[in-house]
Amino acid sequence: MRILLVEDERKIANFIERGLKEKKYVVDVSHDGEDGLFKAEINPYDLILLDVMLPKVDGVAVCKELRKKKIDTPILMLTARDAVKDRITGLNSGADDYLNKPFAFEELLARIRALLRRQRTEKIDELKIADLELNLLNHEVKRSGKSIELTNKEYILLEYLMMHTNQVITRTMISEHVWKEDFNSLSNVIDVHIRYLRRKIDSGHKTKLIHTIRGSGYILKDSQ
Ligand code: CA
Repeated sequence: MRILLVEDERKIANFIERGLKEKKYVVDVSHDGEDGLFKAEINPYDLILLDVMLPKVDGVAVCKELRKKKIDTPILMLTARDAVKDRITGLNSGADDYLNKPFAFEELLARIRALLRRQRTEKIDELKIADLELNLLNHEVKRSGKSIELTNKEYILLEYLMMHTNQVITRTMISEHVWKEDFNSLSNVIDVHIRYLRRKIDSGHKTKLIHTIRGSGYILKDSQ
C-alpha cells in the first residue's frame, strides 16, 4: 500500500512517515501543495493524507484539482482547525474524511484502514497465489495456512511482487518502489532481500513461487 503524505510541518511529517513505515506502508512525502499535486498525478497511490494549510497551493485547492482531473484516490484531510465550516469545505472539495490536529497516531491508523477498506470493497483485501496469501489490510502473510513473519522491507517487496504476479519485475522497479532510490548495478541489496524472502516463502515447499529471470529480474508465479 502506497500513501502520499502532504504536510509542510517537518516534525509532524516525520512523525507520521516514520509511524506508517513501521506499519509496513510505502510513504512518499511532499512539503507543499504544488509538489503534492505533482506526485499525486504521476504516481498511483492507495491513499493521500492532505494537510489543509499548505504553502503554494492549499489542501482544499489540491483536493479540488485532483478530483477535477478524475483522480479518485481516497483523501484524508488533516486540519488544525476544529471548525465545522472547514470540515464542510474539505468534504465538499472531494475529501473522503478529515482528522483534526493534534491526533493520536492510532486514530490516524484507524481512519486510514477504514478508508482503504471502503475503497477496496469492490476490489480485494487479499492477494493469493497458490497457497500463499497476503492480506492488504492487516499485512498478514500465510503459506499453507501458516503465518509468516516478515520484516517491513520483505513485506513491501512481497506485496509488490504479488500485485504483479506473472510479470517480470526488474531490479530497477524494485529499487524504485521498495527503496525509492536507484542502486547501482553492482548492488546486491535486492538479491539479498529476495534470498531472505525465498527462505521464508518457498523454503520447504514443493512449489516454488519466486523465480529468477536471469539478467532481468524476478517473477512471482505458480509454475516453472
Ligand atoms: Ca500546515
